[in-house]
Amino acid sequence: MQALAVFPSKKDLQLVDIPQPKLQRSTDVLLRVREVGLCGTDREIVAFEHGSPPPGSDHLILGHESVAEVVEVGRDVRGLRPGDLVVAIVRRPCSHPECRPCRAGRSDFCLTGDFTERGIKHADGFLTEYVVDDQEYLVRVPNALADVAVLIEPLTVVSKAAIQARSILDRLPYEPGLQRGLVVGAGPVGLLGAMALVANGYETVVYSREPEGGDKGSLVQSLGGSYVSAASQPIERLAERTGEFDLVLEAVGHAPVMMAVVHSLHPNGVVALTGIPAENAPAEINVGRYLREMVLKNQVVFGTVNAGRRDYMAAIQQLEQFMILFPESVRKLITGRHPLGEASRMLTHREGIKNVVQLSRRAA
Ligand code: BGC
Repeated sequence: MQALAVFPSKKDLQLVDIPQPKLQRSTDVLLRVREVGLCGTDREIVAFEHGSPPPGSDHLILGHESVAEVVEVGRDVRGLRPGDLVVAIVRRPCSHPECRPCRAGRSDFCLTGDFTERGIKHADGFLTEYVVDDQEYLVRVPNALADVAVLIEPLTVVSKAAIQARSILDRLPYEPGLQRGLVVGAGPVGLLGAMALVANGYETVVYSREPEGGDKGSLVQSLGGSYVSAASQPIERLAERTGEFDLVLEAVGHAPVMMAVVHSLHPNGVVALTGIPAENAPAEINVGRYLREMVLKNQVVFGTVNAGRRDYMAAIQQLEQFMILFPESVRKLITGRHPLGEASRMLTHREGIKNVVQLSRRAA
């Protein structure tokens, strides 16, 4: 069977032939991959800026936003049967006994950095026809979500941010009343974040590069939010036009924007940073003003990456809710479905919102 792999030492991206995997352990599950979403992390891997092959291998099979169908289960697998739809958790624990989050099943909070991530770091991904995974890393998905389930992994980023933001906002000694939310960036994570804010009753603004009146602006409006383009308002002065926000979800990964976003924050507000900026990104910033405002206004800025099983469960519930509230807008997030042979082109040419590689369809 074919798989899409990146060869970092040769700076190459190509389809490779690999043998079909078999169950090895009693807790293994054989999966037929249905769909894999492509994202900015995959683009960074094919630009050789991120990602590493499994130890001893010269290539990494790409793909971490998976949806797959269970084909066969090992004898100790519980709660999964052939035909079930699953999403695989991306990150796997490090092996250090002292890493308490990894030992507690929360490798998304790994302390050592020696975790692996399927399709990203030291472990092959899902851009192929069949994979084997341990039941521990599989989350069952209701069949009703089949055609949008590929959005679950990016939505887990939002769910994890939301769960943390909620516990920070819970520190407030008063009922905040109507809350205002800002999403920075209108990619898949940003738009899913906007859906989550709207669904939770936030008055929601999305701020991004694309012009006002374009597709993304209309999508945001169709949710009941409003859209402001970076072309019409610099981020530093956004609040002059929109008012301040109680909660900001940043999903753009551009360092100067990530720094400036705090100036749109209401007293006691929270910023969740989810974009991963380039390490050497320069940003001109008045550090005194930045820190002074944060302290004098009780503000919190936190970073969040990856997600644990709890966040996957929350994401599935949220997606079910979105499919009741705005099903057409959710479907519009998926720009196109493409065969494996087109994946490398989709990774090097950016278009639309979420491009998906279709590896198999529902068994007849
Ligand atoms: C993935 C996360 C991963 C992160 C860093 C993101 O695109 O969704 O699972 O932890 O990249 O590698």
